[in-house]
Amino acid sequence: MQRTVPVDATTTAIDLFFRDRSEVIAAYLLEGEPGTKPAILETGPASCLTALEAGLAERGYRLDDLGAILVTHIHLDHAGAAGVIAQRVPDIPVYVNPVGAAHMIDPSRLLHSARRIYGAQMDPLWGAVVPIPAPRVVAVGDGEKILVAGRALRAIATPGHASHHHAFVDEATGTAFTGDVTGIALPGGSYVRPPTPPPDLDLDAWTVSLDRLAALGLRRLCLTHFGPRTDVANVLGQMRSRIWEFAGVLRPGWERGESVDELLETLRRHIRPAMLAALGEALAERYDLAGAMRMNIEGFVRYFEKRKTA
Ligand SMILES: [Zn+2]
Repeated sequence: MQRTVPVDATTTAIDLFFRDRSEVIAAYLLEGEPGTKPAILETGPASCLTALEAGLAERGYRLDDLGAILVTHIHLDHAGAAGVIAQRVPDIPVYVNPVGAAHMIDPSRLLHSARRIYGAQMDPLWGAVVPIPAPRVVAVGDGEKILVAGRALRAIATPGHASHHHAFVDEATGTAFTGDVTGIALPGGSYVRPPTPPPDLDLDAWTVSLDRLAALGLRRLCLTHFGPRTDVANVLGQMRSRIWEFAGVLRPGWERGESVDELLETLRRHIRPAMLAALGEALAERYDLAGAMRMNIEGFVRYFEKRKTA
């Protein structure tokens, strides 16, 4: 079983085998100058910690060799294991968007809303989520540069999917680690699907975020779902149009008062031909593991409602 995929000389994607499926959630191992400690960008959920450790071991590391954790945002599939790792590596700093920092220190509100969504599935899906001591959580502002593994990474605030979302750009290599702002694009296909969960889906902000990334002249995007992509313009372009396409497909039904189930059916019918043409049946089904469709609909409903009352 191959757990790691080389991205460049000093960057490795680690497959976290979420729910025993390959190529759904990635973490990235960042190495750099000799003598510096490596960092990981995204931890995945605590339920995948064993897979993360096995991936690190493939590169000759253990958790306590790590010098830093960066997370693009605080959702559990990206940052869920950060607390557990911080318990085992007590001095490790955790770099995060300022909007999300408080929730890493006290995850109780995050867990409360996640439990409402996932119910009994919460623990099997995500595993333990524990608080990180405040001094370990480092809020990184928009445009700020941080030094990890001897490499400079610039944080780019990229709200839209979530208000607490950053992309991290390695300007030396033209590589951006983009979390969910560039959507779900699994290897083996070219279809890019936006994950649009509640509560802070914001299509205008998301468009600006994609425009900012497009203006950077990037050579490579490293997606959490899943892996490196060099078709930068294709991924950014699909995302930019698809969030509005989905909104256009869903809005009329929402205005007629249709239920989440009905809207879900509408969107599934709409995207199925394009997804099947681009991906085939098996791969199309894997997209749902990386971002549940029902949650995508709930995100749009919340988005429409907010704008109606605004
Ligand atoms: Zn995600």
